[in-house]
Amino acid sequence: MVPALRYLSGACSRARGGFPGGFSAARRPAQGRPWPLCQGGRRASTRSFDVVIIGGGIVGLASARALILRHPTLSIGVLEKEKHLAVHQTGHNSGVIHSGIYYKPESLKAKLCVQGAALIYEYCKQKGISYKQCGKLIVAVEQEEIPRLQALYERGLQNGVQGLRLIQQEDIKKKEPYCRGLMAIDCPYTGIVDYRQVALSFAQDFQEAGGFVLTNFEVKDIEMAKEIPSRSKDGKMKYPIIIRNTKGEEVQCQYVVTCAGLYSDRISELSGCNPDPQIVPFRGDYLLLKPEKCYLVKGNIYPVPDSRFPFLGVHFTPRMDGSIWLGPNAVLAFKREGYKPFDFNARDVMDIIIKSGLIKLVFQNFSYGVNEMYKACFLSATVKHLQKFIPEITLQQQTMKVSDNDIYCFLWHCFGLLLTGSTCSFK
Ligand SMILES: Cc1cc2nc3c(=O)[nH]c(=O)nc-3n(C[C@H](O)[C@H](O)[C@H](O)COP(=O)(O)OP(=O)(O)OC[C@H]3O[C@@H](n4cnc5c(N)ncnc54)[C@H](O)[C@@H]3O)c2cc1C
Repeated sequence: MVPALRYLSGACSRARGGFPGGFSAARRPAQGRPWPLCQGGRRASTRSFDVVIIGGGIVGLASARALILRHPTLSIGVLEKEKHLAVHQTGHNSGVIHSGIYYKPESLKAKLCVQGAALIYEYCKQKGISYKQCGKLIVAVEQEEIPRLQALYERGLQNGVQGLRLIQQEDIKKKEPYCRGLMAIDCPYTGIVDYRQVALSFAQDFQEAGGFVLTNFEVKDIEMAKEIPSRSKDGKMKYPIIIRNTKGEEVQCQYVVTCAGLYSDRISELSGCNPDPQIVPFRGDYLLLKPEKCYLVKGNIYPVPDSRFPFLGVHFTPRMDGSIWLGPNAVLAFKREGYKPFDFNARDVMDIIIKSGLIKLVFQNFSYGVNEMYKACFLSATVKHLQKFIPEITLQQQTMKVSDNDIYCFLWHCFGLLLTGSTCSFK
C-alpha cells in the first residue's frame, strides 16, 4: 500500500523547512456528510495527528485504511478539500477492474495491477459491494493489428493474468454477438465496479478503526512549526508540521502523505518537494448508449492499444447501473477538475503553457492530438471508430448525448497515465 502510494502520488517527503518524513490523510462514506474536526481517532488532540494524508480520493483513503490497520496505535487524519469524499477522478472514471495485461512484465505497475485486482474482488466480496466480472475483449479489426495483439497476449501471460485466451472470429461472436473482429484476447478476469463506493467503504473502515476524516479542508500551506506548541518527554517537538487550509485553520502532525490526485504536483511543491512530474489536464468525453440499445454490448470491448498510450483509445464500457459508456477521447482541458468543455482557470492554463512542457507534448504527439480534437468536435468521427467494432452503432439512433466530462491525468515526462490507479490502490 504505502509503496503504491508513493508511486502514485510521488510526493512523500520533507516539508518546507525540512520535516522528518513525508505523507498525507480521509472520512465517513455512505451519506457523505462532513465530519467535525474533532471526531473519531484515538490519542490525538483535536487537531494533532501522527500522520496526515492529504486527499480523500481512493488512493488517499486506501492508504489511510492500510496505515491504520497496520499501525492501530497511530492517530491518522485525512484532509479533503471537497464537502464529500472521492468526487474527482475516483468518482469520474470508467469503473473497470483492470487485469494487468498491458504493463511491462515485472514492472511495479504490472504487479500492482494484477495483485490490486485480486484484492479489490476479495474486498468487494467481503463487504458486499456489487461488482461484475463481465470480462473484456481486446479486438483486432485490421490485419496489421494482429502481431501487436499476439505480443500483448504474451505479455498478459507473463504478468500472470488469469484465464487469458487468444480467440478467433467465431469465438468473438459467442462472447459479443454484435462485435466483429479478426482476432481477440479474451480476458475473463476484467470486471467493473463503482470505485466511489469502494473508496467510501475504505473511509468507513478507516474511521471505524479510529481514523479521522476532515472534509472542506483545502490545504493551502505546509510548514514547520516555528514555536514549540507541544513537546514530548524527550524534549523533541511532537507535531512539528503545520498544515493550513484556505480558511486559516490548522492541523499539526508528525508525517504527511500526499495523495492529491490532479493537484499532486502543487501539493508536492507545498511540501517542499519537486513538483515534477507536472499535471497536464485532459478532458475525456464519453458517449452514452441509448438504454434500448444496451443489448449490443455484453462486456468491455477495447481496441488493440497504441503502445504509446496503452489505456487510450475509445472503448465500450458497461457500467454498474446497466448503462454503456463509449469513449473516452482525450482533449486538453483548461481547468483541473473542470468537467465541462468551457471550464477555465487562469492559473491552470498558465501552468500548462509555462511549466508543463506542453509544446514538447504537442510536437511529439501532434497527429494523435489532432485526431483526438477532431473526434471531440465531430461525434461522427468517434462513432465511425466505434462502428469498426459494432457496425450497428449509429449516431442518431444509438447514442443519446455526450455524458459528463471527465478529466484525464497526463503525467508529463513519463506519459505514465494512471488509468488503472483505482485498481492498483488497494495494493
Ligand atoms: C477518465 C478516466 C478513466 C479512468 N478509468 C479507470 C478505470 O477504469 N479503472 C481504474 O482502475 N482506474 C481508472 N482511472 C484512474 C483512476 O480513476 C485514478 O487513478 C484514481 O481515481 C486516482 O485516485 P486519487 O485518489 O489519486 O485521485 P482523486 O480521486 O482525484 O482524489 C484526489 C483528492 O485529493 C483532493 N485534493 C486535491 N487537492 C487538495 C488540497 N489542496 N487539499 C485537500 N484535498 C485536496 C481532491 O479533492 C480529491 O478528492 C481513470 C481515470 C480517468 C481520469
